Amino acid sequence: MEFAEFADHIADIESLDSDIERCERVADLLAVAGDDLGTVVRFLLGRVFPAHRSTTLDIGPRRCYEALARAGGTNVSGDDVEARVATEGDIGRVAADLDLGGQQGLAAFGAGDRNALTVSEVDDRLETLAETAGEGSEQTKGDILFDLFNRADSLGAKYLARLVLEEMRIGVGEGTIRDATANAFDVPIETVEAALQVSNDYGLVAETARESGTDGLSEIRLVVGRPVQAMLAQTGTVNDAIDNWGAVVVERKYDGARVQAHYDGETVRLYSRNMEDVTEPLPEVVDGVEDSLSAPAILDGEVVAVDDGDPLPFQEVLRRFRRKHDVARARENVEVRLHAFDCLHADGTDLLEQPLVERHDRLTELVDPGDGVELSDPVVSEDPDEVAEIEAEALAAGHEGIMLKNPESAYTPGKRGQNWLKRKPDVETLDCVVTGAEWGEGRRAELLGTFELSVRDGDGHATVGKVATGITDAELEALTERLTEYIRAEDGAEVDIEPAVVFEVGYEEIQESTTYSAGYALRFPRFLGVREDKDPADADSLERLESLADSQ
Ligand code: AMP
Repeated sequence: MEFAEFADHIADIESLDSDIERCERVADLLAVAGDDLGTVVRFLLGRVFPAHRSTTLDIGPRRCYEALARAGGTNVSGDDVEARVATEGDIGRVAADLDLGGQQGLAAFGAGDRNALTVSEVDDRLETLAETAGEGSEQTKGDILFDLFNRADSLGAKYLARLVLEEMRIGVGEGTIRDATANAFDVPIETVEAALQVSNDYGLVAETARESGTDGLSEIRLVVGRPVQAMLAQTGTVNDAIDNWGAVVVERKYDGARVQAHYDGETVRLYSRNMEDVTEPLPEVVDGVEDSLSAPAILDGEVVAVDDGDPLPFQEVLRRFRRKHDVARARENVEVRLHAFDCLHADGTDLLEQPLVERHDRLTELVDPGDGVELSDPVVSEDPDEVAEIEAEALAAGHEGIMLKNPESAYTPGKRGQNWLKRKPDVETLDCVVTGAEWGEGRRAELLGTFELSVRDGDGHATVGKVATGITDAELEALTERLTEYIRAEDGAEVDIEPAVVFEVGYEEIQESTTYSAGYALRFPRFLGVREDKDPADADSLERLESLADSQ
């Protein structure tokens, strides 16, 4: 396809207001794109290279202005172009208005073939431009750009200029290309979507849809070195998880940045959640992954910054991502490591369809943890109390909380589905008075273990639950010592305690209940600490409990 014809199509598409019409016109263009289909798709999205490639053109506006000026003849300078862009606000319009072309002789030094410019030629020349490096490369890059502008017609120059500066902005997004692909080649949108999630290559997916339809699309496999969209999580409660799945896989929720590690047997590439290549800034993870694997694999995990083993806030990792220079120095200051929690591909086999527990098994078989790489530590549980314990431990260790995952679930790239839940954080905490307790059992018989919680109710108190979770042994000892002097009565293991100490308590939900005198019960209460600054008279009241319950 000639580039001028392509530009006509884009001008037409850009002029439309209706999304539906735009999608139809894009579908028409895809249908006639012939051998250029993959390139046309990328160019429509304003991309010279597929999203999964880390290659960039690296053409600054100034170089583009100079090349345009050169193609615009002796009366135009780079400064003129820059000034016009400042007024017009669009490099495309400025390029279209220049009287381009026909520069021969000296000005045309470096100019190529005089035949009409084609889409594939633009693609080839830009690829060459991106590969050009070393001595004299500035000149060569400038010559290539000049030649392209010099041979483009006015609309062609408009979209070429926007393309090279990554400012295409014609109202065609990934959703439009997905729908137009389905429309043009008569395949279901869901199949196109699924193929995109696995490959992230809009050109490849369009070509496959055209050549081999639905069957071909569902054959698209993972490729080591081509990032996959990350599976995402929703918020949810422990109870929802256990009710729906029976058993739940509980993992720590690491506070870092999502990273996918691809190892092809020789080299490691790392990709961020939005599939940017973050290999360079994370050398210790690269080394770690290389050392830990003996076969090709794609791992999913979270990169966390640590200081002496303790997690640092996630901003530290993001800072590292942005760092292009001086990685060695950054490495000395902040250590990062990958907590791998999933395995999408192992030694030639795609695992997306396999249940999570089996993917975890493969992960454990495949990865030999060491410096730079650790494995997540999943626990399969059916017991809400055990889950609450794990959560308390995770929080105490400085993690963000826990993730709850369906043990039987497949890996669904890009989907914020119901199979991965981040536990809903406690919305608000309650300050409750301790009005009773129970002695522990066995090794803990000398310690108070479970504490009865109450809210203020007029001059008295109303019970609302018991808490035993989230308290360390040291805290239990201190609390026992402190509360013993307030014990009013004992009946077996049960102890009646005079209101004196206020606990800050987290919970998942407030439910109506006949078990406690408040008429409500805290679901999964968790000890957060003693409110040293509060007397029993300052504890939360039944009214606040009621209003919190109402607002859930
Ligand atoms: P959020 O960013 O709040 O939507 O939470 C989901 C994110 O938590 C994921 O995209 C991961 O980056 C991160 N995460 C941390 N630990 C885990 C884990 N064990 N499993 C899955 N995702 C995790």
